Amino acid sequence: MKECCICGRKSVDEEFCEYHQAAHINLKSVFEIWVNANRGVTWEEYIRQVYELEETGQWVKEIIENIMSQNGP
Ligand SMILES: [Zn+2]
Repeated sequence: MKECCICGRKSVDEEFCEYHQAAHINLKSVFEIWVNANRGVTWEEYIRQVYELEETGQWVKEIIENIMSQNGP
């Protein structure tokens, strides 16, 4: 049984638990809205901006931290 790579809870998709998976799906769906509304925004710019928003939830921030650490320098 795999564990969520962020929080260690039981994973539902071999990578994330149900909470982080839901946050990841939400993050990707909002990105598509941003791309349609603001042509030219890249995934990296998007996640950086979402991370700075006060209303961004903790689950989403943890997903973004995880993505950034994988892409990191
Ligand atoms: Zn998790």
